[in-house]
Amino acid sequence: MQNRHKYPYEKFIKAKPSHPCPICGKDDWCGFNSYLASCMRVKEGSFKTKIQSNGKEAYLHWLKPGTVEAPAIINEKIPAVQTAPVEVRDRVYREFLRLLSLYPRHKDDLIRRGLSEKDIKEKGYKSVPESNKPWNICRRLIERGHDLAGIPGFYKARGRHGGNYWTFDWQPGYFIPILDSSGRIQALQRRMDDPDRGGKYKLFSGYQHRGGCSCGTPAHIARPERMKDSSIWITEGPLKADIASKYLGAVVIGALSVTAWKPVLEVVLEMGAKEVVIAYDMDAKTNKFVAEAEKALKHELLKHGLKVKRARWKTGKGIDDVLVAMHKKQTA
Ligand SMILES: [Zn+2]
Repeated sequence: MQNRHKYPYEKFIKAKPSHPCPICGKDDWCGFNSYLASCMRVKEGSFKTKIQSNGKEAYLHWLKPGTVEAPAIINEKIPAVQTAPVEVRDRVYREFLRLLSLYPRHKDDLIRRGLSEKDIKEKGYKSVPESNKPWNICRRLIERGHDLAGIPGFYKARGRHGGNYWTFDWQPGYFIPILDSSGRIQALQRRMDDPDRGGKYKLFSGYQHRGGCSCGTPAHIARPERMKDSSIWITEGPLKADIASKYLGAVVIGALSVTAWKPVLEVVLEMGAKEVVIAYDMDAKTNKFVAEAEKALKHELLKHGLKVKRARWKTGKGIDDVLVAMHKKQTA
């Protein structure tokens, strides 16, 4: 038995996806340093049970030397890299999505929202993997010759025995490809299963301090199979844009948020549109910042000589829900 008194005081760090709890392997709730873990889940093997201020039990485990590195090392920054050009991102994301599948619960959700099995396949929505570990998927991508540096969403985690390995955040949900005007995947958004952990939609991006990079706030361009309307529509959210585009038979730009309107303007100008229809949610009208952002976009569009219309409807729902409901009525 080692003499534990020899250990210096060392700060605890919280378990995170980049450095999960060394006892239970989960990425939240527990804490640890280089020699001691306070695990909230595993009692077996602990030397002490501590009752925390919230009444919950925490199990203290000694860690074998070398199990984890000191927080000072874990927290040591890996420099951020520059985001790779869109053609590189497109290649890596397509290969990445090919390695994943779409779980039935996610497919059901997309069908419920108005997409067909064919649409789902073509758009390439895939579930965040639950059985295959992210580092295994990263390794397969690297083996196939892809460099994950500069691809938003991927980052480096510290290995137990030193060194780094590529991984990504694997909170359950599904990926929604964000396409540019040439149909290339420029980024991925995730529809999260548990919206209480940071929102319904999250970008696959970040971890700059762990060798990751940011995808920015690109606008998604959804194209219909059959063009019926030559005006360009603008809505909030890539998935909403995919659905609206199908039912409108028009190009629909999905802004990541109403306030991220600059990338939308760039796309509209690049595509040489003459007429634009703004179809942000009607309840957005009640929010001052959202209303201001919409006004700013409209102002810029008018300044560039475009004709601008505002789609209006009565319910507080999104344009996609309104279109799907109208379609159901017509075909009933
Ligand atoms: Zn734990």
